[in-house]
Amino acid sequence: MKKALRKVFKFILLFLIVMWVVYLFLAPKAVRVSYDEFQNLLKSNMLSTVTLKDNEIISTIKPAADSSNVLTKEQLDDLSRLPPNQQRITTSVVNDPNLIQALENEKIVFSGEPKNNLWDTIKTLFGIWIFPGVIFFLLFTFLLSRMKVSEKVTDIGKSKGKVYTEKHTGITFKDVAGIDEAKIESLEIVDFLKNSKYYRRLGARAPKGVLLIGPPGTGKTLLARAIAGEAKVPFISINGSEFVELFVGVGAARVRDLFRQAHAVAPCIIFIDELDALGRQRDYSFRGNDEKEQTLNQLLSEMDGFDVNTDVIILAATNRPEILDSALLRAGRFDRQVLVDKPDKKGRLQILNLYIKKIHSGNIDLTEIAAMTPGFTGADLATLVNEAALLATRRNAEQVEMKDFIDAVERVVAGLERRNRLINPEERRITAYHEMGHTVVALALPGADPVTKVSIIQRGASMLGFTMQLPKNDRSIITHHELETKLAVMLGGRAAELAVFGEYSTGAVDDLLKVTDLARDMVMRYGMQESLGHIAYEADRRAFIPVLKFSRDFSEKTAEEIDEAIRKIVQSAFDKAITIIKKNKKYLDQGAKILLEKETLDKHDLATLGVPKE
Ligand code: ADP
Ligand code: MG
Ligand code: ZN
Repeated sequence: MKKALRKVFKFILLFLIVMWVVYLFLAPKAVRVSYDEFQNLLKSNMLSTVTLKDNEIISTIKPAADSSNVLTKEQLDDLSRLPPNQQRITTSVVNDPNLIQALENEKIVFSGEPKNNLWDTIKTLFGIWIFPGVIFFLLFTFLLSRMKVSEKVTDIGKSKGKVYTEKHTGITFKDVAGIDEAKIESLEIVDFLKNSKYYRRLGARAPKGVLLIGPPGTGKTLLARAIAGEAKVPFISINGSEFVELFVGVGAARVRDLFRQAHAVAPCIIFIDELDALGRQRDYSFRGNDEKEQTLNQLLSEMDGFDVNTDVIILAATNRPEILDSALLRAGRFDRQVLVDKPDKKGRLQILNLYIKKIHSGNIDLTEIAAMTPGFTGADLATLVNEAALLATRRNAEQVEMKDFIDAVERVVAGLERRNRLINPEERRITAYHEMGHTVVALALPGADPVTKVSIIQRGASMLGFTMQLPKNDRSIITHHELETKLAVMLGGRAAELAVFGEYSTGAVDDLLKVTDLARDMVMRYGMQESLGHIAYEADRRAFIPVLKFSRDFSEKTAEEIDEAIRKIVQSAFDKAITIIKKNKKYLDQGAKILLEKETLDKHDLATLGVPKE
């Protein structure tokens, strides 16, 4: 259907171009003559009609007239190319008070308006304005479609397709679990929307903008919809990225439209998802950013402008609050922030309880699963439960069992198992020693997180094996010593490779990235290098998308010291790892041997290895 449409479109375009060209080349034109020549022609009675226009005089030469003694040879040539009764000349208008008299003397039909030439006017109009206009427009559309711009030119400025209005979201707080603090803070908004008159009685103002901040998948969108659902008000939502348009001014129009719609249905909630796409800190780099800036400014002014007595509350969500333009966070705008963090163990248990109701399951110890899934978000847990149900279905089970869940955790953690994929024996050996290296260091160091599983089954495209550690409990503070232990464990794989094979392989890329990241954080964010002082040299690096930054906040000398400190931290962690590996070489060999045989070792297998603690 679309293809056919495009064909027709192309055909029409071609047709129009041909028509235009034909018009340009064949349409009768007039030959330009001077006013003197015109008067001479007039006086020698060679003109049949004269049309006086604002800026030119157009006259037709009598078909039989011989103008050869008045006009130049070139003009005659040009004239001869025109059809016999359409040999027209054009002259500039000169302020000549005698002209009319002269015309009357010669008894020439003349007109001030080209009324007998309506057709001419239309043709001129077509030739000069409409045709090129249409063709330009078509070419433009064509080019745009070639540029893969999804926006239809005809849709510009109409935001109807992009703003989603839901009368009732049908979501309540019951559908949201594990983020109790955020829920408690949201209650106030719900309460306000429900009882705004009661609040207003004493002059209280509605909170205008509330920003939900948290990593992806933690339930920000869900919470926003639940707030609207609880308050039973319409939910008008738009994604920040949908404001960002190719055409300057469209985003701003959209913002205006959004607020207009909201006012029409108030009390209601406006929800701007992924606010960061639109509200990014205005920068002054060379990239043109006019459109975003205009859109952002429009949003700011709408937020400032709306009457405190309208019950419209603006919610927005972001996972990158640091890159938001500070103007957005000022008083009277998104001055209230609600943290929607990753759930802790208790929270994960609540979320699992919520989703387990939706599947057919046997006796499942959700507490253990909650313990196995630190760092999982609500979305991850929802996926996990679904994955477990899929696995159970695939093995034709009556109900979803614990083992399905455990397999599902692995899947979600490390991608699909690829048992069948062959790796060559040498690669397997290196991988086995590498993974055992991590494990032995973790087993030997007292403060390390216990290893629950080691495997050399390939998962995903790049992971040859993995060592899974279970954090003892969810921690938000980690000590310097524990971080050093972590580093040593991360480097254990590489240390084992060196100790056994005498050289490194490329298998440790991810380890090195993690190590570098952590060591850098220790120096630059956690102030763990005393010689550098209690100074944060850097904000959270990972939260930023790389911003062009031409200056640092510290000196070249400090930069060198930082590099040096990072290197030292990593080196001493590596020294620690290699010492442990060498000391426990026989356990390493033993472990690697069993691992090559069984492919996966669980915590019981590892306990029987009996690696002594440091
Ligand atoms: P975000 O907007 O923070 O990226 P979403 O709200 O889009 O996250 O979450 C995606 C899905 O994950 C939700 O539709 C829901 O199914 C599930 N989910 C996420 N967090 C939670 C939670 N706290 N409670 C219940 N379900 C959740
Ligand atoms: Mg979302
Ligand atoms: Zn490794």
